[in-house]
Amino acid sequence: MDLHDRRVTVMGLGSFGGGLGAVQFLAQQGARVTVTDNRSAAELSESLAQLAEIPSITYHLGGHQREDFSTAELLVVSPAVPKDNPFLRIAIDAGVPLTSEMNLFWELNPARVIAVTGSNGKSTTTAMTHAILQATGRTCWLGGNIGRSLLPNVAEIQPSDAVVLELSSFQLEDLDRLQRSPHVAIVTNFSANHLDRHGTLENYRLAKQAILRWQTPADFAILNQDDAFVASWSTRGPTLYFGLKDTGREGLFLEGKDHAVFRFAGQERRLAVPEWLSLPGVHNLQNALAAACAACALEAPVEAIERGLRGYKALPHRLELVAAVAGRQFYNDSLATTPESAIVALAAFEQPIILFAGGYDKGSDLTEMAYAIALKPVKAVALMGTTGPRLNELLDQFDPEKRIRRRVCEDFPTAFNWAVSESMRGDILLLSPGCASYDSFRNFVDRGTQFRDLAVGSSSLMARIDS
Ligand code: ADP
Repeated sequence: MDLHDRRVTVMGLGSFGGGLGAVQFLAQQGARVTVTDNRSAAELSESLAQLAEIPSITYHLGGHQREDFSTAELLVVSPAVPKDNPFLRIAIDAGVPLTSEMNLFWELNPARVIAVTGSNGKSTTTAMTHAILQATGRTCWLGGNIGRSLLPNVAEIQPSDAVVLELSSFQLEDLDRLQRSPHVAIVTNFSANHLDRHGTLENYRLAKQAILRWQTPADFAILNQDDAFVASWSTRGPTLYFGLKDTGREGLFLEGKDHAVFRFAGQERRLAVPEWLSLPGVHNLQNALAAACAACALEAPVEAIERGLRGYKALPHRLELVAAVAGRQFYNDSLATTPESAIVALAAFEQPIILFAGGYDKGSDLTEMAYAIALKPVKAVALMGTTGPRLNELLDQFDPEKRIRRRVCEDFPTAFNWAVSESMRGDILLLSPGCASYDSFRNFVDRGTQFRDLAVGSSSLMARIDS
């Protein structure tokens, strides 16, 4: 693939690293690159800043120009672009070959790939798998949908290295055209998601199943036994399951509270996965079982699995312990922008919880979330944003005696100070809003960062409360 002096259009720079990686790689190859995006330069400023050093890129931002599609020699399309976008049609009609950042990487990468997909828990499972494989001493690369493109590094990757990738359904849909699947494919779970883009649940399933479709008998499928639908998917190579209950299959299963058993090819070994993992929540234990199962399939030593999991810290904004002050623990779960993820977070703790909930109104039904709050050991709820009053009304239904103290707060510092004033030693202060952040914050990162900063600086406030 000689890209030198070729006219290549990158459609969709985005903010998650994929478009950026593609442009950096194409520039390294000496291609003549045009970057075009629907979004404006101001909206893309963070990605553009990272390309500032590269001369001679042409930018057509805030919309697309026909010629960039009709006269290109190659079009690199972001996975975020819907397949029915009319500019894609222009390129196809002009005979321009289409590819993606991930497909380019896949064609050039010489190393074995371990990839993770699923509706939830992809990033966590991917990062855990990477942490374990790195603890084996092997050179191990982490990338894909997790927010980092490995394409600019592809020349450094050796055949003996391991590449751990998070793959979204959109990336898998594109990869399917190459008829390639990873050596180890992990599927965390499957639930209705992204139907706006895939159209039907069946299309979404077919996209996800591309992770298994082109595997060979020398590859491994790692499937979630506790998701009956995923567990029923057909595979072409050996299938290992992971689960919270041992049903005698091959794979990695919880055995009692403290151990898991790995069973494969007539052998068994025991791993203290629950003890090694410091992250709260059954969902994180499932992610760890998936990662450890993949590592076992790759014959990673038990010591490496232990080291990888013991050293593993939550990814930012995902049930992340950001501060422990005066006997209280502050967990930042700002990424919980749906009621379902707030429910998952609430289920992760047995200690008394003071919850920060509510935010921008996406029209989600918050009834189940209010019900979960009323069922759990929640002492107080600081209600935030546009949905705060609605959540308050729902809590009136499920907690008519007002066992749970609540306050609808006008801004975040007020919510924080009130929540802290309600807390005592041993409590969990949990930011898991179940709603998006756009009404009061720039995005979920801004919300989580403000929470962390307030938590880290809360010792004098806490001293006043405790005195
Ligand atoms: P993804 O990359 O699929 O979005 P993450 O690992 O980033 O997943 O986790 C995002 C959120 O999804 C977490 O904060 C948690 O609320 C939820 N989650 C994580 N793992 C699981 C799981 N195994 N099952 C259900 N929900 C999960």
